[in-house]
Amino acid sequence: ASAYAKRWRLRCAFRLCTEVTMDVDTIVSLSTPPGVGALAVVRLSGPSAADVLKALLGKEAPMPGFREPSLRRLTDPDTGEVIDEVVVTRFQAPASYTGEDMVEISCHGGWLVPELVIEACRQSGARIADRGEFTRRAYLHGKLDLIQAEAVADVINARSRAFHRAALVQMERGLSRRVADLREQLLRLEGLLAHHVDFPEEDEPPVPITAVADQAARMVADLELMLATAPEGELLREGALTVFAGRPNAGKSSLYNALLGEERAIVSEEAGTTRDAIEAVVQLGGFPFRLVDTAGLREPAGNIEQKGIEIARGYLGRADVVLYCVSADEGPTDEDRAFLEAHEGAPVVLVNTKADIEKNQKHWGPDGTAARVRVSVESGVGLEKIRQVLPELVYSSIVTAEQGVPVLTRGRQARALRAAKLEVEAFIEALGQGLPAEVASTHLRAAETALEELLGAVSADDVLDVVFREFCIGK
Ligand code: GDP
Repeated sequence: ASAYAKRWRLRCAFRLCTEVTMDVDTIVSLSTPPGVGALAVVRLSGPSAADVLKALLGKEAPMPGFREPSLRRLTDPDTGEVIDEVVVTRFQAPASYTGEDMVEISCHGGWLVPELVIEACRQSGARIADRGEFTRRAYLHGKLDLIQAEAVADVINARSRAFHRAALVQMERGLSRRVADLREQLLRLEGLLAHHVDFPEEDEPPVPITAVADQAARMVADLELMLATAPEGELLREGALTVFAGRPNAGKSSLYNALLGEERAIVSEEAGTTRDAIEAVVQLGGFPFRLVDTAGLREPAGNIEQKGIEIARGYLGRADVVLYCVSADEGPTDEDRAFLEAHEGAPVVLVNTKADIEKNQKHWGPDGTAARVRVSVESGVGLEKIRQVLPELVYSSIVTAEQGVPVLTRGRQARALRAAKLEVEAFIEALGQGLPAEVASTHLRAAETALEELLGAVSADDVLDVVFREFCIGK
């Protein structure tokens, strides 16, 4: 028994003093998008960043101070020809993004100048960086954990405020702190168990076994709370697939355009003119939606239109939310009724369009529909309501989430937390069955491993490859 406790203590001690040593070269890359622009930023990182810079500034030139932007002239070290007038900023390890010595060169943009600067750096001993290599180095030097590193990519790629917000929380360790906290709790539980094993004859153990189980149950509840945000968190990345459906002339394209804020789809008074699907990503209430305008669902139809209808059906099958349009001046047909009945309980918003047409208004909607909105693109009535209803319907757990619950935006995060939760549940069950503490605690250790992999405290190279592959060059 005490051997087990000793092993546990050793493991804790080991974790506190693991250190990675690395043999690294100096990398260079363009950190701004390629193409014509006023400025471009070239970054250097690695032990010989300063030497490379010196070669470009010329041997006689004094080196700029750290974190002091300095206006300089870069020359080709071979030919002595001037490349550009630039602003150079030096950073000293470990106080830099990567944790290494770094140099940032703000040069003129365009196709040629940044290339010349990079080529000169390469000639002077730097290597062209791989995708995400700067952030990978930041991670390896302990400047970021894996969740934060992923969040950097998300902040860059964000196309909606909601996704941006979730990524910022992660970048600022919001999720990492929660995960680290859970891991601490697991270690404490293990410690309590080790104590039980060590001093079985003690009258008063530090904590009764039932209290340990209660604590584990609270962890499960915590994990569930975090996991609840996962399905919608992952939608934040691409945007929720939003399909406009309804009969021809129901006002789908008009509504699509109104939400898009620009004339993207072809609006026509002739029935059945929208023949193919058009897609655009918009923010509604700060949340991302992929709006898809499809051909009118109508049978029978000509050949081209038929194809459009098939495409529409395909989209409908995958839709995260459907805006089903019924023109208020025409009212519902049997077809409309059949559609809504078939989709009862699904995220379908029934839109009564053309609310401005006075004659013959038939506002209608069966009780089973998730939401109903009266809209007129002429008067603008109801558009605000749609912008509000859609996020509430599609992103409800994020919209209503307790403040401070970080949103899980990646499958990797959800998988790890789900694995941890299963193990903690298995632990509770093992305690309940009266299994020896040593056996039960294997589940705690498995849960710990899942959390550590999530943070990147232990991570195989291939995990890192997957994480950093999606980065752009120069990040
Ligand atoms: P779709 O076939 O379902 O895409 O329908 P459209 O968006 O092409 O609209 C069909 C017709 O209804 C067009 O003539 C539109 O101008 C008209 N329409 C659409 N929305 C409104 C509205 O809110 N008010 C009025 N008065 N007409 C509308």
